[in-house]
Amino acid sequence: MDTTIQAMLDRYSVTPETRAFLEAGHQKMFIDGQFVDASDNATLSIEDPSNGKHLITVPSATCQDVDRAVAAANQAFCNASWADLKPMERQALLLKLADTMEEHAQTLAELESIDAGKAIGGCMEVDVGGSIELIRYMAGWTSKIEGATRNLSLPGDTIAYTLKEPVGVVGAIVPWNWPLNMSLWKIVAPLVTGCTIVLKPAEQTPMSMLYLMRIWQQGGLPKGVINIVTGTGAVAGNHLVSHPDIQKVSFTGSTPTGKKVGQAAMQNLSHVTLELGGKSAMVAFEDACVDDIVNAAHQSIFFNSGQVCSAGSRLYVQRSVYPTVLEALSTSLESVVIGDPLDPNTTQGPQISQQQLDRIREYIEVGKQEGARLVCGGDSPARPGYYVNPTIFADTTNDMRIVQEEIFGPVLVVQPFDTEEEALALANDNIYGLAASVFTRDVSRVHRVMRKLQAGTVFVNTHDAVDVAMPFGGYKQSGIGKDLGPEQLDHYLETKSVVIQL
Ligand code: NAD
Repeated sequence: MDTTIQAMLDRYSVTPETRAFLEAGHQKMFIDGQFVDASDNATLSIEDPSNGKHLITVPSATCQDVDRAVAAANQAFCNASWADLKPMERQALLLKLADTMEEHAQTLAELESIDAGKAIGGCMEVDVGGSIELIRYMAGWTSKIEGATRNLSLPGDTIAYTLKEPVGVVGAIVPWNWPLNMSLWKIVAPLVTGCTIVLKPAEQTPMSMLYLMRIWQQGGLPKGVINIVTGTGAVAGNHLVSHPDIQKVSFTGSTPTGKKVGQAAMQNLSHVTLELGGKSAMVAFEDACVDDIVNAAHQSIFFNSGQVCSAGSRLYVQRSVYPTVLEALSTSLESVVIGDPLDPNTTQGPQISQQQLDRIREYIEVGKQEGARLVCGGDSPARPGYYVNPTIFADTTNDMRIVQEEIFGPVLVVQPFDTEEEALALANDNIYGLAASVFTRDVSRVHRVMRKLQAGTVFVNTHDAVDVAMPFGGYKQSGIGKDLGPEQLDHYLETKSVVIQL
């Protein structure tokens, strides 16, 4: 193991399990209840974004490996070891898996923090805690999946009803910004409905899911029900979403990749959920509480190093309070602590990779060239790793690329407006529609503006208040379908119509 990594594990007294996982140097993927290497033994190198050092290798799955994983999931589905469990049995197993996660929460958070560069505090609360909460919430739905009876007008005596059935094998693909949590968003709902799954983590961040499979295997997960293939998007990802035995493709990632994934899935007429990019607008009126605006904007765009799909990355402020909000926002940056992800005091870790850092730096240069006013940040702290300082651009206009395009880093653009109509036009003038927020104390305005904002979620006097009970998904080019809430279950169910002549 690299000496920098070794020193870091010592400095932060990680659990023996975290240490052993990394000291192994190589971790296998999980297919048909077994940990296996790629059929050609090819590997991917996983690095620590806080210093660029090599952590471990994982298999780089071939198309043949994906075929094996899909066959295992299909076998588990067709033999009905999972789908035929009684709802209460399935619920009990899900709750047990949640308990197992809780027992290993510290190790999961550490591995996630090291792999994805996440500040450990938020990682424990949101990534791990939120995932456990999701399982416990969803487990209760196993016994509440219902069809309907219908009164028919056909001749003779009939009874008719609809039956909800699991859709089949799910192919899931997730990004690197919430490796564990997004995977659970993809896995738990299909497990509830009786589906089986093949999931491909992002190539940068497979560690937490591989550790989770180890503890879930010990916790009684039946073989073949969940399969994890580690590998590239171009090979393993593309083969998975194009596979004819995948009945449902569930993808989270960027809009350009999502379009390709959707097209591939359509070749087989697989069902598709696409959770894609965003450039979410926050609209702040002069009657709103300035602290609410500033806290929400700060939390939303600077949390997780700005790598949040629904981050409020565009802030529109009514002109009379624009200078006050801007000043308070700049002051709020004093509370940002950039540091080692495992340090409990750290609030902002590195970006995921050199590639993402370069992309953010390029956007910062674009912003300057476009004539936006750089209020703070724009540079990187003097330390190794892929860090960038929190950055605020003011006096932007909607024709600028930094206002229109998803940067996916800690970069906020702030812009003044005069009227409600203008604010709505500015907020909706974007290809994305994942989330939006409105800040005002005027209850009529809340309802007027909320209805007109083109976004899958609208927050009022807050932003990014995501809860497992509320469906999450985008309008426009931010996606198709919903994750979370009972609405998500519909995406993993087929409806069979049954008509019985008596
Ligand atoms: P990405 O699209 O580059 O990659 C996402 C995943 O797709 C990775 O696992 C990758 O290996 C895989 N992939 C790449 N090419 C593929 C192909 N041809 N076929 C199948 N799979 C392929 O996205 P990213 O950079 O990892 O993640 C950041 C993006 O994710 C941002 O745009 C962000 O907004 C979005 N995101 C959206 C949500 C949401 O809920 N809407 C949540 C988190 C992240």
